[in-house]
Amino acid sequence: MEGSECIFCRILKGELTAYFVYRGNGIAVFLDKYPVTKGHILVVPEEHYESVHNTPPCTAARVWIAASAYARFYREKLGALGVNLITNSGRAAGQEVFHFHVHVIPRWDYRRLSGLLSGRHMLTEEEAREVAEMLKGSEHLVDEYLESLGSEC
Ligand SMILES: [Zn+2]
Repeated sequence: MEGSECIFCRILKGELTAYFVYRGNGIAVFLDKYPVTKGHILVVPEEHYESVHNTPPCTAARVWIAASAYARFYREKLGALGVNLITNSGRAAGQEVFHFHVHVIPRWDYRRLSGLLSGRHMLTEEEAREVAEMLKGSEHLVDEYLESLGSEC
């Protein structure tokens, strides 16, 4: 599934809308349309790969490094109690969109992960604006993390 078929490729091409919070260095980050917590974002490579299992190592590294920068930003700048970084590879693992992505899910309380899914809701424009505001300044940290990979990746 590639190009016109893939929802994330269509978002990246501007054919479908999403709230981007970062774009550059081969990486894009946008808000999950059905967040389970406030600030639930997706980190994706600009290039299409089905899932982590067939993503080239350097591209996978870039995605995880960017996700790690958000974990730090949520924990250290925004006071999140925890953060989940999750990727699902394959339908059996719960993958729904077959374009590699890492979920970054900040945790603002102590609900169990299973309980989190009940909090899944449709993103509103108001919430999207609030999250974009929260994440102001995070792009510098993402750049810094990606640059730390050096020229080989
Ligand atoms: Zn795609």
